[in-house]
Amino acid sequence: MDLDAALGLIAEVPDFPEPGVLFRDLSPLFASGEGFRAVTDALAATVPPDVDLLAAVEARGFMLAAAVGYARGLGVVLVRKPGKLPSVAGRVDYALEYGTAALELPENVVAPDSRVAVVDDVLATGGTVQAACRLLEEAGAVVSGVSVVLELAALSGRSVLDGRPVHSLRVV
Ligand code: IMP
Repeated sequence: MDLDAALGLIAEVPDFPEPGVLFRDLSPLFASGEGFRAVTDALAATVPPDVDLLAAVEARGFMLAAAVGYARGLGVVLVRKPGKLPSVAGRVDYALEYGTAALELPENVVAPDSRVAVVDDVLATGGTVQAACRLLEEAGAVVSGVSVVLELAALSGRSVLDGRPVHSLRVV
C-alpha cells in the first residue's frame, strides 16, 4: 500500500471528544497491516540519521515509535502520563486542544547530550510535543526532530515548537 492510501485510512469523526472538534481517528490505519507498515516506513525515513534515541508520547506515540525504533535500530524512551513511572526525571503541565494534561519522563534513561527524535501521531496545538521536548531538554538532551503522522495546520502546533524541525507525513 502506498503512503497516500495508508493515510486515507484515517477517519474523520465530527464532534469528538467535544462539539465542534473534528477528531482524526487513526484506528483503521493501525488495524491495517499494509497501512501501518507504509506509515512506519515513511515515519522512519523522517528520523534524522544521527539520532541516539526515540521519545514516544503516550499512548499512540508508543505504537509508532516502537515500530520506527525497530525499523531504524533505535531504542525508545516512553514519555508518560502522570502516575505511571516509579521514578521521574521531570514533569511538565500543559494545555491541550481540549482540557489540560501533564507528561513525565523516567529518571536515568535519557543521557545528557543525547540526540532524541520525538514521535507522536497527531500534532494539533503542539502543547503535547512541546511538553515532551521540554522534558527531554531539561534532562540535557537535544531534540533533533519531531516526527508525526498528521499535522493539523489550523491549530499552528509547529509555531510553538520554536524552530525544532517538524516532519509531518500529512498536513491538513
Ligand atoms: P496537541 O497537544 O494539541 O498538539 O495535541 C496532540 C495530542 O493530542 C497528541 O498526543 C494526539 O494523540 C492527541 N490529539 C489531538 N487531536 C487529535 C486528533 O484529531 N486525533 C487523534 N489524536 C489527537
